[in-house]
Amino acid sequence: MVGAATAIGLAQLGLSIAVVESRQPQAYDPDQPIDVRVSAISVASENLLARLGALDSLWQMRSVPYRGLETWEMDGFITQFAAQQLNMSHLGHIVENRLVQLALWQQFCQYDNLHCYCPAKVARLVRATNGIEVSLDNGQVLDARLLVGADGANSMVRQWAGIGVTGWDYRQACMLINIATEADEQDVTWQQFTPKGPRSLLPLPGKNASLVWYDDAHTIRDLMQLSNKQLKQAIDQHFPERLDRNFEVVERGSFPLTRRHAKQYHKDHLVILGDAAHTINPLAGQGVNLGFKDVDALIQVIAAAQQSEHHWWSKPVLQQYQRKRWFDNQLMMTGMDLFYAGFSNDLLPLKLVRNVGLKLANYNNPVKQQVLKYALGLQ
Ligand SMILES: Cc1cc2nc3c(=O)[nH]c(=O)nc-3n(C[C@H](O)[C@H](O)[C@H](O)COP(=O)(O)OP(=O)(O)OC[C@H]3O[C@@H](n4cnc5c(N)ncnc54)[C@H](O)[C@@H]3O)c2cc1C
Repeated sequence: MVGAATAIGLAQLGLSIAVVESRQPQAYDPDQPIDVRVSAISVASENLLARLGALDSLWQMRSVPYRGLETWEMDGFITQFAAQQLNMSHLGHIVENRLVQLALWQQFCQYDNLHCYCPAKVARLVRATNGIEVSLDNGQVLDARLLVGADGANSMVRQWAGIGVTGWDYRQACMLINIATEADEQDVTWQQFTPKGPRSLLPLPGKNASLVWYDDAHTIRDLMQLSNKQLKQAIDQHFPERLDRNFEVVERGSFPLTRRHAKQYHKDHLVILGDAAHTINPLAGQGVNLGFKDVDALIQVIAAAQQSEHHWWSKPVLQQYQRKRWFDNQLMMTGMDLFYAGFSNDLLPLKLVRNVGLKLANYNNPVKQQVLKYALGLQ
């Protein structure tokens, strides 16, 4: 998602672009079951996708808008955010990651200066006099003035460049479970905190939803072994009453929770974005939204450099990109960690404080509106 978006943004600036991707995304068919890998895409990300020409293609496939966001621990102490509070029609959309990628890929053919190498893997990188030589596993060799590493959490580009990371594993995992509901399409995403981790629901298109179950890694491993019927019983026991019990389990997947932040986002002729630069707790659904903010920042600084005396790939330009993004990403990651740690215990005094906090946070005031705007990437 992040790499494809960067490629189009830089192609729009007239640069000659090569996209290298090891896995061909499966073409869309409306009869396909909904993928488990879905993301809550914020309004700011939608704006970027629109500028890249991909938003209409995305809407022509499938997605669902969400208009409300609710979180609580103890019943009666709930914080609710609603699109109307910002006079907006919606807060964002839930979409399958693959469809975001496909919508972007459909734009590739608009650009004669963009070539896609897929399926092809980056096999070897070598520094050249004025750039980086990229050898693919199919034998082709590309010369890059700037290598953009948007190759995910285990970024080969980041490791090859020797860019260190800070971070840890949360010793927790999360399970994504697609369910078919009897209730009609929903438009509120909710999350209840428990000391073992949050239990959440994301609406999916039609009579479907995605449940997210955070727990210790052993529990998630055990849950993954259950039949659909057994898993439904476990969900019935462990999810809040808010979940309508008239549903069937359709699909599931599990993911470890990790936090990684690259110490720097650039080296000579090389820059990293998206999960290659930062992997955040998925708690608040910010991962790819932060990645899209990186894309926006990189496009802006390169566009500005084209109008200035700096080479667009030079160190001062890449430093500007890092300045725009590193602190913002760090702030969001730390915020999520504090939230996560704050709710991961059952100590009564703390429980009371945080629940009163949630209740107070629910009053509509300018601070609440600022928090919502920040979460939506609107500032
Ligand atoms: C459980 C869970 C729920 C989440 N929910 C949300 C959410 O609601 N909202 C949100 O914003 N984010 C969410 N995220 C985070 C989001 O999924 C990631 O931030 C996002 O996928 C990162 O996108 P990316 O393009 O940077 O990396 P990736 O999606 O990992 O893409 C990297 C690409 O690089 C390719 N690649 C890697 N190495 C090579 C190589 N050597 N050669 C060629 N190609 C290569 C891979 O094939 C892949 O296509 C969630 C994450 C998890 C785990």
